[in-house]
Amino acid sequence: MSEQSAQKIAPADQKVTPMMAQFMEIKSANPDSLLFYRMGDFYELFFDDAEIASQALGITLTKRGKHQGADIPMCGVPVHAADDYLQKLIAKGHRVSVCEQTEDPAEAKKRGSKSVVRRDVVRLVTPGTLTEERLLDAGANNYLMALTRLKGGSLGNDAVFGLAWIDMSTGSFQVSETDQQRLAADLAQVSPRELILADTLLQESELRLLAEQSGSALSPVPRAFFDSSTATDRLGHYFGVKTLDGYGTFSRAELSAAAGILSYIERTQLGERPPLDPPVREAGAGRMLIDPATRANLELARTLSGEKQGSLLATIDRTVTGGGSRLLASRLAGPLVDVDAIQKRHDSVAYFLANEIMREGLRQTLKSAPDMARALSRIALNRGGPRDILSVAQGLATARAVLDQTRIGDIPAEIAEARESLEHAPHALGDQLISAIKDEPPLLKRDGGFVATGYNSDLDELRALRDESRKVIARLQADYSEELGLRSLKIKHNNVLGWFIEAPTAQTEKLTADPARFIHRQTMAGAMRFTTTELADLESKIASAGERALAIELEIFEQLAQAIIDAGGAIKAAAQGLSVLDVSAALAKLAQDENYSRPVVDDSRAFDIKGGRHPVVERALRTSGGDSFVANDANLGPDASEETGHIWLITGPNMAGKSTFLRQNALIAVLAQMGSFVPAAQAQVGIVDRLFSRVGAADDLARGRSTFMVEMVETAAILNQAGDRSLVILDEIGRGTATFDGLSIAWATIEHLHEVNRSRALFATHYHELTALSAKLDRLSNATVSVKEWNGEVIFLHEIVPGAADRSYGIQVAKLAGLPAKVVERSKQVLSQLEEQDRRSPAESLIDELPLFASISATPPPSASGTASEPDPVVTALEDINPDDMTPREALDALYTLKTLQTRTKD
Ligand code: ATP
Repeated sequence: MSEQSAQKIAPADQKVTPMMAQFMEIKSANPDSLLFYRMGDFYELFFDDAEIASQALGITLTKRGKHQGADIPMCGVPVHAADDYLQKLIAKGHRVSVCEQTEDPAEAKKRGSKSVVRRDVVRLVTPGTLTEERLLDAGANNYLMALTRLKGGSLGNDAVFGLAWIDMSTGSFQVSETDQQRLAADLAQVSPRELILADTLLQESELRLLAEQSGSALSPVPRAFFDSSTATDRLGHYFGVKTLDGYGTFSRAELSAAAGILSYIERTQLGERPPLDPPVREAGAGRMLIDPATRANLELARTLSGEKQGSLLATIDRTVTGGGSRLLASRLAGPLVDVDAIQKRHDSVAYFLANEIMREGLRQTLKSAPDMARALSRIALNRGGPRDILSVAQGLATARAVLDQTRIGDIPAEIAEARESLEHAPHALGDQLISAIKDEPPLLKRDGGFVATGYNSDLDELRALRDESRKVIARLQADYSEELGLRSLKIKHNNVLGWFIEAPTAQTEKLTADPARFIHRQTMAGAMRFTTTELADLESKIASAGERALAIELEIFEQLAQAIIDAGGAIKAAAQGLSVLDVSAALAKLAQDENYSRPVVDDSRAFDIKGGRHPVVERALRTSGGDSFVANDANLGPDASEETGHIWLITGPNMAGKSTFLRQNALIAVLAQMGSFVPAAQAQVGIVDRLFSRVGAADDLARGRSTFMVEMVETAAILNQAGDRSLVILDEIGRGTATFDGLSIAWATIEHLHEVNRSRALFATHYHELTALSAKLDRLSNATVSVKEWNGEVIFLHEIVPGAADRSYGIQVAKLAGLPAKVVERSKQVLSQLEEQDRRSPAESLIDELPLFASISATPPPSASGTASEPDPVVTALEDINPDDMTPREALDALYTLKTLQTRTKD
């Protein structure tokens, strides 16, 4: 709520009702969230909150009383449906304080007829602190992240950033340290739903943009939250340990971020403690760096239009559990760079690929496994219900079944570790829970009815008594109706009167005639209600049996919940074990269904893909029943004599498949290093530490950048950061500007990649002039996509072959796209004129005139005007020639070049 509106409702008004005064006091303590104020069976919202919520939820805005002469806007949501409304508000980026009645209204009445029921905020619901099943996406982690900066008052390179992130719904807790260069990539990898940072940081425009770009809901907090000097104590206190040494060593930035996140939890959870794992340090350098632009371009978790469907993740996800799906998503978000760790994952996939029957049996079992980790968190946060206990019970039962199912052959290390966590699960507790909870228990513990028959004999007795009494009531009804000759007499129950006898008014003569026995309770429109001592006795027997039964059930619930919390660590480990098995089996299933092969991942600079395919395009072609996908090779690895990889320059017609080829190779690297098999006949991938991709671009008007500016910013990031272990994918750099500007930028970019970055790279372009560069850059090769021309039409073969394309067939593609025939014709005329001009002064010849990138600073580029002071190009070229280092063929080529230069100089 804004400051203004906070003032608007300041309790200065003498005439506010006691309830409004209470509301205002609570609201002023929770100004930055919508206040759900509990009144009976509703949560009510007032003032601005009501206006915001009614609009966001599409519910009616009403009013209640007046404040300072004006109506008080109000709207409300029923308590039983509150989750749905909460979900909508949270999805729209709001935060909600839930204010409950903290005493029985009867207690309040005792203090006087005008006293207000005590209320207090019991929880602050924010996007990053959700735990309810209905508010969460089963297949996605829901991260809350804290970001802090140490050293350096501004975004200088010396600034160190601390990150801490937790998923409260599962308890995972990670910290890492990063620098400004990696920050955006690290945020994109975790993709938190909510980002906490000091309000002072958020005032810096660069950081604010970065935070906003992460797509998270931003929660500014006071800087004191991140106090690193008290962080160790705060963490120790939370985890009940004297020293954090047992958890590893943490940097000051990591501790500061961890302190920030714990402070925020304390503030939002108000006394409840989510069962967090001790913090684990996630070495940023242990993951492939994928910046946000690359992540988006490659459509790893979402397509460019923001859909999940059509992303790489959706295409490869064959997991059958929520936990497995979350683990797969986080593996894909952060592919590894450690060869051993990657191979360990490949071993697991290979194991499940080899043992198909076992794998399918396992997957069948896992399918029925509930989300044990999330149920555990809810129980520990005191938000759990009987179904959560059943989830833990069934999860543990699954763990046991899975143990029996996976006992085949030589078990790889990762699977063995997962099995070990299942062996150590609290199976006895699982058995106890199964016997304690009914098969289909109610959602809430409040009304009881969830403890299974046979679990507690006292409870069984009370229930029998209660049920028996109900039978007695039925018998009593029959007796009365026979005795009084009244077939329409009924014994009914409601919350106000309890049990009562009801008869139509016209037939109550015999009852009213004996008022000592039939005590009148109520007269309705067409009926009268009575009670008798017999009925009242029975009623109190039923009520007390019910109450006692409920008390026993609630006590059992608390005992079971406590036992679950006590075994929390082992339960969580078992849940993680199940997720690992699910992911490995799912990747094996994927490899089998889609014919993926195990890649060789090593520390070399190799990138040798035989028969590679694009996983998403291949799938789309198959489902649409179109052509089958044409597999292609790519080899960017260094030759025996070299140390760094190669660049392929790909030219080819529009629609031929250049972009697809580029992306498929990047995706193969991601898949290989996340631990999956890859869509290729064979693949060798030398660890890629950073992956960069610039494929297409869109305006980023929010940041005031045009399409071309975005393209250049992204290209700059690549040229500044890529190294000799990186894989760079560049598609049509420089297309958004004038031809010569674009060509020049693309030209210089290739030279820089080749000479300075020395990365493995794939570069697609329509500037055919660039293919001439291969004559000068020894690790640059030309490749093209083959097409056939038949009766003036192009046929795309989608085959990558060595060599350069001669043309783009743009006009043919435009024709296919339905451009009017006249425009197509005219384009052909213009093209032939332009080509004629180009033939007279071909741009390719430039290649011989320009010095190499590395020597640019030493040699000024030739001036276009060709003034008298300019050195003779023939002489310059001669200076570059060293006959002793040349093969006869190179010597001959050089001679031809000199001749061409000389002829042109004469012209
Ligand atoms: P442009 O230069 O116009 O951007 P492009 O050469 O980058 O085109 P892509 O966008 O990669 O072409 O591919 C165009 C279409 O061709 C794809 O949508 C896909 O349907 C099909 N395609 C691409 N590669 C293959 C392949 N290897 N096998 C079969 N079909 C393919």
